[in-house]
Amino acid sequence: MTIVEKMKQQTTLSFEVFPPKTEAGLAKLPPVLEELYKWNPSWLSCTYGAGGSNKGYCLEIVGSIADSGRTQSVTHYTCVHNTKEGIVKDIDEFLAAGVDHVLALRGDFIPGEDATNGDFDHADGLIRFLRKTYGDKLTIACSGIPEGHIESPNMASDTAFLKRKQDAGADFIVTQLTFDMDQFARWMDEIRAAGVTLPVAVGVMPVLERDKCIRHCLSMNGCAIPRSLARHISKYYNDPEGFMDAGMDYTVQQMYEYLQLGVNDLHIYALNQSEAVDEILKRSGLFAKSE
Ligand code: FAD
Repeated sequence: MTIVEKMKQQTTLSFEVFPPKTEAGLAKLPPVLEELYKWNPSWLSCTYGAGGSNKGYCLEIVGSIADSGRTQSVTHYTCVHNTKEGIVKDIDEFLAAGVDHVLALRGDFIPGEDATNGDFDHADGLIRFLRKTYGDKLTIACSGIPEGHIESPNMASDTAFLKRKQDAGADFIVTQLTFDMDQFARWMDEIRAAGVTLPVAVGVMPVLERDKCIRHCLSMNGCAIPRSLARHISKYYNDPEGFMDAGMDYTVQQMYEYLQLGVNDLHIYALNQSEAVDEILKRSGLFAKSE
């Protein structure tokens, strides 16, 4: 069964990791992946060029996930600095490494630039090109931004472009982090009303560290800090351990709320650490870990 078929039948679990910048960092990833596999995730994705960085070890990581045979490997891929010719070369490389699932994104611009400087300005063009070039050989995901993309004039415009990505051939949606559950519920209603029928994998950002949590909301994404999270931040402002412990419960609660809103996959931003993810999933009681 494909991961998309699975998502339509039951809410699945998946993880995101990112490519470490150094070889030493890369060497630390296999034990983390090993622990994540034990949760039997439906798929595991790796970012590509996030924050305008270079693509780093993305290919090595998604290749190793594919080689493990433990879960479906998904690579992120962006329009940034990528020509049609380069895209075909890269995707052929991913396919040769056993990776045929792609989260197709516009991408974060390289610092100092204000365009992709590639052949596509937006994700819909990339998705259309991938679908036309590779047909059913690729499963293609696209982003969804529940609070609206930072460059969008309004939610309606963002939703219309999301529909365009569906029409271009995307198979499922992976969302940007949000802590604003009311907005998430409104967004689900809005996209469904606009004819977006794709399964939704919701990005779950664990609440573990005060400064990172604030930065994740405000540095690039323009995400709201709802009252419940603001209270959490204030209560544990000078207590990192308390912040993390209660933050895990906060994340579990958020996962339950997402389930009630009918999401198709809980996609945990694992931040390349398995211990906190382990604890969150154990506390949730939602999935079983194999030893
Ligand atoms: P798009 O869908 O192209 O949308 C960008 C903006 O343009 C929006 O305002 C949208 O409304 C508008 N728009 C869309 N289509 C059109 C169109 N045809 N004409 C005019 N306007 C349009 N970045 C990375 O660099 N690497 C990663 O690995 C990465 N992983 C991510 C994973 C997830 C789950 C998410 C949600 C984001 C990720 N990002 C990553 C960040 C992402 O690249 C940025 O948010 C980027 O600014 C937008 O990408 P997008 O695919 O949503 O863009």
